[in-house]
Amino acid sequence: MENTSNFEFRYNCPLCKEKSQLNIFYNGDIRSGGLGSPLVSGYKVLQCGKCDLVFLDKIPANIQEFYEGDSYRENFDYQIDVVSLQKKFDHEQNSRISRIGVERMRGKVVADFGCGPGIFIDAIARVDGSTIVVEPSIKYREFLSARGHRCFSYAHELLQELGPEVDIAVSFDAVEHVPDCLGFIESIHASLKPGGYFYLSMPNIEDMLRFINPEKYNPFYFQVSHVNYFSAKTAANLLSLAGFVEVSIDFLHKYKIENVFRWLSQGSPGAFNCGEIFDRSFHDTYVANIERLGISSHLFLTAKKSPL
Ligand SMILES: [Zn+2]
Repeated sequence: MENTSNFEFRYNCPLCKEKSQLNIFYNGDIRSGGLGSPLVSGYKVLQCGKCDLVFLDKIPANIQEFYEGDSYRENFDYQIDVVSLQKKFDHEQNSRISRIGVERMRGKVVADFGCGPGIFIDAIARVDGSTIVVEPSIKYREFLSARGHRCFSYAHELLQELGPEVDIAVSFDAVEHVPDCLGFIESIHASLKPGGYFYLSMPNIEDMLRFINPEKYNPFYFQVSHVNYFSAKTAANLLSLAGFVEVSIDFLHKYKIENVFRWLSQGSPGAFNCGEIFDRSFHDTYVANIERLGISSHLFLTAKKSPL
């Protein structure tokens, strides 16, 4: 899939904008698409010596087209229809909703930035005053518009039309895809009312599998569509630089212990079949401890727009 004309090099840190202090963080093959896709060479994962952000040295040149059309879902999920994606991602909404709290969303204007097929916003649509989605995919905007959500392609379009109208903003597993991550978060900040809340989640660069089985896991973890990689520190910095206050860091682990066994035994993602020896209590305790140690699969941050 690679040739020299379909990507652009990045020489500046997308967070602090420095270009003089970039170090190589990882230099090896990375994933070209979804599970089981071939690895590709020629990418470098860089780390900014000033702010510690980790990012890919190059991004797809046609990135806007990639997300507006069907290419992203075809290459990374192998399915683009909403029902298949609901089956795949419905369960991820449970922990998101419990962390925000239904009571915080009741009667409010909730906006989901980079919502994909809108699985979160659909799940909470009946508890809030109104729902807004920001999603470049034309297909998903058509689907979500028919379901009564106000739809925009990009945050600046929402801002132009509505101004700072949002009470609760969320963005899940989106910011790592956005080359100008700071500009993206700044536009979310601008769209919030004073005192509004923002919930941000993305993969954690300190994911324990990067330490447990780096040889196998790094080429899977780093992937061409994730152009930025955040730690608790750089994610908190991202929110502060965008103007947010009361930034609070939390961790979110999405996978059961069977996933670790699979990586250790087979060097691939999925669930190692353990039969029924682990119960819900074991799983909850395991996840709680992985999150406590900060080595979870994902970060989950909460922040506020200053009320003044
Ligand atoms: Zn930097």
